[in-house]
Amino acid sequence: LVEARDVVLSFGSTPALRGAELSVAQGEIVAVTGPSGSGKSTLLHCLAGILVPDEGEIHYDGRRIDALRETERSALRRDRFGFVFQFGQLVPELTAEENVALPLLLARGRRSTALREARAWFERLGLAGLEGRRSGELSGGQAQRVALARALVAGPRVLFADEPTGALDSLTGEQVMDLLVGSAREQGTTVVLVTHEPRVAAFADREVIVRDGRVTPLSVGRAAS
Ligand code: ATP
Ligand code: MG
Repeated sequence: LVEARDVVLSFGSTPALRGAELSVAQGEIVAVTGPSGSGKSTLLHCLAGILVPDEGEIHYDGRRIDALRETERSALRRDRFGFVFQFGQLVPELTAEENVALPLLLARGRRSTALREARAWFERLGLAGLEGRRSGELSGGQAQRVALARALVAGPRVLFADEPTGALDSLTGEQVMDLLVGSAREQGTTVVLVTHEPRVAAFADREVIVRDGRVTPLSVGRAAS
């Protein structure tokens, strides 16, 4: 469904991706791991059409999205993708529930419906009672779950999540992964997630490693424990 073909991207003179290849099937959950600075976030941004590679191709659902105009790419992101960024991303002027409702408001309006759908996520993610807080009044882990709710609220075909459990303790992280994987399976959502944590990667169908801007499959079998 989503594919990076021989993707090369540099930031000025810093190479971030040097021939990255990744193909993710419809409904598949793939964990992307690898050392800091290896290119994981950059790869995710390319797959989601946020960054355009210098060389290579990005395909989504049979279309080459790196060749689209930016307006078409942003429409695709809005209609089909959810993205959880590695670092702060909530709109500080809005409450937590308004942040979660934002994709629905951008897509089809109806404020009351959007807020009702947004509120349902607070219970699911253990955030009940925090709906009216602004992002500055949330802990790192709470803000991260609000960001995850915002990425999921519109029912994306593909969820891209960059360290979605990085600010969570391991129990909360596993609960969030349970919910994420459960709802992905139910709705056939394709998930590409970046993580440093083996316990989080274990939720995925498949794990790949990014090293020096290239992707390699994890060849060693996962421990059975
Ligand atoms: P981490 O695990 O620390 O999040 P990462 O694997 O996600 O690392 P990337 O953020 O993809 O790594 O960065 C890959 C390389 O590109 C690094 O050398 C980084 O310094 C560089 N880089 C990333 N973003 C930028 C940017 N906006 N401007 C300049 N260099 C950047
Ligand atoms: Mg990163």
